[in-house]
Amino acid sequence: MIALNQKDLHVHSPFCPHRASDAPLEEYLTAAEKQGIVELGFAEHGPFPAPLSLTQYTKHPTLTDEEVELYFREMYALRETYTGPVKITIGLEVDFLEGFEEETARSLDLYGPRMEDGLLSVHNLLVDGRYLNLGYQHNIIAAVGKMGARKLSELYYRTMLKLVITDLGPYKPKRVGHPTMLALCGKHFPEFNEERALMEEFVAAAKEYGFALELNTAGLESPEDCEEIYGQALLPYMKKYDVPVSLGADAHRPERIGSDFDHPVILEAMKYLRPVWGDGTLRAARATGTARYEEAANDCIG
Ligand SMILES: [Zn+2]
Ligand SMILES: [Zn+2]
Repeated sequence: MIALNQKDLHVHSPFCPHRASDAPLEEYLTAAEKQGIVELGFAEHGPFPAPLSLTQYTKHPTLTDEEVELYFREMYALRETYTGPVKITIGLEVDFLEGFEEETARSLDLYGPRMEDGLLSVHNLLVDGRYLNLGYQHNIIAAVGKMGARKLSELYYRTMLKLVITDLGPYKPKRVGHPTMLALCGKHFPEFNEERALMEEFVAAAKEYGFALELNTAGLESPEDCEEIYGQALLPYMKKYDVPVSLGADAHRPERIGSDFDHPVILEAMKYLRPVWGDGTLRAARATGTARYEEAANDCIG
């Protein structure tokens, strides 16, 4: 079985509008080879489902529909010509945006057949009819000022629960990206980890619906405010419910690939967590129902 820390299953690409590098795709593969990574899961940001006027974005945060076409074309072409040792998986990171579930399902119907894998992530929370962008610390701090840390955390995990149970059709991604994103300011607000009952409910639902959860090392890039791995606070529940786990550095430049996969928290977690799809197969999460993981495992993405 391939060790958890040999697969980076959350990698962005030169197509990402907020990439941190203009390095070509080949450099991502060279970086993976150097790090001893045997599989790269490209998960570029799929089209944003809502009008930007409802958000705090000033420019498009994700690929447009036209850019997704180009992304798939070039990624599949790259794989045709690449002869190195790294397995390349091609997919998208899809936003779960409460209130735009139908649009998201339509987008998945369109792109799902070309997605070999995918992440479903919450980057924005619906607050009073608008979307609060959790990618910026000042937004989180302002929201805590308005509603308090416990309430914000409660809203976050309720949204995560909706992510798990909402029917987004047959191509709904089967892994949850950075599942404790408020940890971006976690050092300032320890209350974020006090919604224990809800946190456990979310993890238990993830298990029930056949999801894997991600340990995402991007949090370690903000040592003053975060200094933890996204997903880390859920580890006791992931252990309790035996939820499969994947690792991602969320690299937006080649040098970040596989970063901190040797972190003590990960090495310790590897002793008891089951790496995602250890048998190498890809599985779709159940969109509805209460099947156990083993049954969900039979739903394969085509
Ligand atoms: Zn990004
Ligand atoms: Zn993300």
